[in-house]
Amino acid sequence: NYEGYMLKLIEAFNPVAAEGVMCRNTVSVGWDGYLYDCDFNQMLELKVAKGAPQHIREFNVAALDERNIMLNQHCYGCTAGAGSSCGGETVK
Ligand code: SF4
Repeated sequence: NYEGYMLKLIEAFNPVAAEGVMCRNTVSVGWDGYLYDCDFNQMLELKVAKGAPQHIREFNVAALDERNIMLNQHCYGCTAGAGSSCGGETVK
């Protein structure tokens, strides 16, 4: 069912929902201090982009603000329809 599920998510992409996803205003910190754009990326072991602070000991808000977010297919799960984030839907 994976292909049909992905197609459904892609067709439901909502740029307004993308504005509120957690990676745009939050970072996820691993047990060992490494930084991720979100919990999903942490589970996939996708650390923040190279060039951005990689570990909590290097934490720097300005540098993290400038980073590119590590995107992949799973991001369609956050940006479909009313969106999905830590606090529920991203479009109220
Ligand atoms: S899964 Fe993608 S869109 Fe969703 S919060 Fe993580 S990086 Fe952002």
